[in-house]
Amino acid sequence: MIKVHRVDGKKTISLSKINPTDVQKMSKEEAVMHTTALHTEIAELQALLYASGEKSLLIVLQGMDTSGKDGVIRGLSNALNNTGCVVSSFKVPTEEERGHDFLWRIHPCAPQLGQISIFNRSHYEDVVVVRVHKIATEKVWRGRYDRICDFERLLTSNNTIILKFFLHITKDQQKRRLMAREADPTKSWKLSVGDWQERDLWNDYQVAYEDAINKTSTPEAPWTIVPANDKWFRDLVIAQTVAEALRPFHKKWLSDLTLRGEAAKKAIAEYRAGKTSKETAS
Ligand code: AMP
Ligand code: MG
Repeated sequence: MIKVHRVDGKKTISLSKINPTDVQKMSKEEAVMHTTALHTEIAELQALLYASGEKSLLIVLQGMDTSGKDGVIRGLSNALNNTGCVVSSFKVPTEEERGHDFLWRIHPCAPQLGQISIFNRSHYEDVVVVRVHKIATEKVWRGRYDRICDFERLLTSNNTIILKFFLHITKDQQKRRLMAREADPTKSWKLSVGDWQERDLWNDYQVAYEDAINKTSTPEAPWTIVPANDKWFRDLVIAQTVAEALRPFHKKWLSDLTLRGEAAKKAIAEYRAGKTSKETAS
């Protein structure tokens, strides 16, 4: 068990005080071992979530370029069954999307009961990149914090569990990852001049993220700040947080499903008994 930086609105956080390289003295081998065990548990929990259809789970991934959003999704896909899980990626809005309110494109991707949705970027772009690039006025993006809290409250009141992750890396680590992509032909297609232009705005992004996190953290839809310089530690934080969010329901889902199974077996037994008595009567 590691200590997780959970932000639930009780205290504000300062990103500069959370160290993206802090792995809490854990070794990579130890972390990978824990993550593997947690993935097994998450797989079982997902099967119960799916079968019981009582709740859904929304995982929101945000972070600077190269912070590892795709890597987290690859890691979780080791644990999750595709049948009950959908990944949605939110890019620069299309003209049609821009012609609507900022939540219009988001809401249809919210998970159905029994399902898990993973957002690779999300409605938080509308208070982060939009703020940094002055795509909307301050009055507009500031107003969105309340809209976001209302929207997330709507989802949680409909039995969606919401987990929001900020993948926290250092500026140096981003440079190392961008350079490594240049050296790797299977990854260099991801690169653009824009990556370096965005990097120049690093501090503005940190301010925008810090504000967004502090303004939208609630006990029902908390943020987790993930020290993400080391991929294996990042994956452990995510796995532990997801497992901890679902674990409290394990017992209830299992007993509900057992009762359903018992009811089904009783109905089958009655059907068989009815059939046998008809057969003996005829
Ligand atoms: P990537 O995740 O590398 O495919 O990049 C997607 C790009 O879309 C990022 O630069 C995001 O900042 C940008 N993006 C996502 N949502 C929005 C939005 N609502 N407004 C403006 N840009 C966005
Ligand atoms: Mg990019």
